[in-house]
Parts: sequence; C-alpha cells; structure tokens
Amino acid sequence: MKKKIIAANFKMNKTDEDIKKYFAVFLDLINGLKNKTSYDGLDAELIFAPPFTSLLETHKIIEPYLDFIKLSSQNVYSEKSGAYTGEISIDMIKACGCVYTIIGHSERRNIFKESDELTGKKVEAAYTGGGVTPILCVGENLDIRKQNGQERFVENQLSAALNSIKGRNTSSLIVAYEPVWAIGTGMSIKADDGEAMHGFIYDYLKTGFSIGELRVIYGGSVTEANIEELIGKPHIDGVLVGGASLDPQSFYNIFKLAVK
Ligand code: PEP
Repeated sequence: MKKKIIAANFKMNKTDEDIKKYFAVFLDLINGLKNKTSYDGLDAELIFAPPFTSLLETHKIIEPYLDFIKLSSQNVYSEKSGAYTGEISIDMIKACGCVYTIIGHSERRNIFKESDELTGKKVEAAYTGGGVTPILCVGENLDIRKQNGQERFVENQLSAALNSIKGRNTSSLIVAYEPVWAIGTGMSIKADDGEAMHGFIYDYLKTGFSIGELRVIYGGSVTEANIEELIGKPHIDGVLVGGASLDPQSFYNIFKLAVK
C-alpha cells in the first residue's frame, strides 16, 4: 500500500531558533502517538520543507525519525555548479539530507517568473543527480478554472516539466496538484473536483511515462476542516500544506486526521 504523504511547506518562514521550538512541540506530540522507534503501522510519510537556511538544523532534529519523517527543499537550481549567484544545486541539498525537492511551485512560477522550460530542466537535474525525488507542482489559476480549462493547462505543465523522462524508467515522482486560486486563500477545492483532477493526472501519466512509484498529492488551503474529505478520495495520495503547517499543533492535527 502506498504511504500517504503529509508535507509541510514553510515557505519563507522560520529561523533555526523557530525550527527548534517548532519541533520541540511537534515531536512531543508524535512521541505520544507511538513508540518512537517504529512508525511502520501508520502508513504515512511526513515531509518537511523548511527554508534552505534551516535544512541542516531540521535534518539534525529529525534524524532519529528518518524512517517516516523526510526532508525536502522548497526549490533547487538546474545546474550542477558555477556562476549562478544565489542558487542552490541538487548536490548541495542532498548534502543537507534532502530526499525530496519541490519544483515548480506556483510562487516560483508567478512571482519569480520561472518558465515551464526551467521547471523541466530542474526535474531533469533531479533525476540526473539521483537520490532526490521531485515534488512537481502544477495547477491552474482562477480564470482557467472558470473556463473549465484546468485539464488542458495541467496537461501542458506536466508535458513541459516531464519531457526529459518521457519513455524512460523513473523510480519515483510526486505530483502536487495545487490550483493557484486555492493557495493561501482559504478557498480549498471541493473533494470531488480534486479527485477528478487527480484521476486525470494519473491517466495522463499512464501513457508515455514509466514511473515506478507515482503519488499525486493535493495542495491549497488544506486545514483540519477539510483534510478528512480530501484524503478519503482514492486518487488523493496526500497533501502539501502551507499556512496550516506553520503551527506544530495544527499540522499535527492534520496529520492525525489523515492517518487515523
Ligand atoms: C502551498 O503553498 O504549497 C500551499 C499549499 O499553501 P496553503 O496551504 O497555505 O494554501
């Protein structure tokens, strides 16, 4: 059975000191759940994506829990090394303990104008470097949704981002379906509409791709109020949580409701 993914994207929030305080509370709650040496029965994987500056600190804290808590970066650059001021490579995030990287988040695409082409190069770099699974974000804006163009739009994003792995065997991929109109707005998708898009993504990736383990997770205003309905859908393999992950108790509550 596929493990459900409950992922936290801290975005540009939290210093190392904040991270220490966060995990002091969060791990206390987790330790109350089960004997800390074994979480196998939970069928869930927790992923944390702190800012680059706290990857090492976070890794140090979660080290005893690496069987079910994993580290992700929020972004990565496509080149291996060189004159790219301010950028971080796959090798660098791996050295910090990351086994995932978010690629193509809508904030990268919309605020920093990152193109489909660059997103595709980053995905290619992750597979070429090895050892880091992309969490590839896709999702339409409100105008596109209103015109019912979400499937075509997401198909184009997937096609551009995954061009380098078409026809190749790939071990694993997480696609995060994150409709832009739902991110940080409090306006989450209806669970049935989410299920329809996730089913569409699964169907699209069945042809022309050979992905060993594919998981499609949902992101966009996930809270304690909507997690159970979303996670109950057969093609929703987990969630990516922004705002509601910043408070350890609220993120724990989401996790708990998702795995119960
Ligand atoms: C996100 O930015 O990936 C996200 C899902 O944010 P929020 O949960 O705040 O909508």
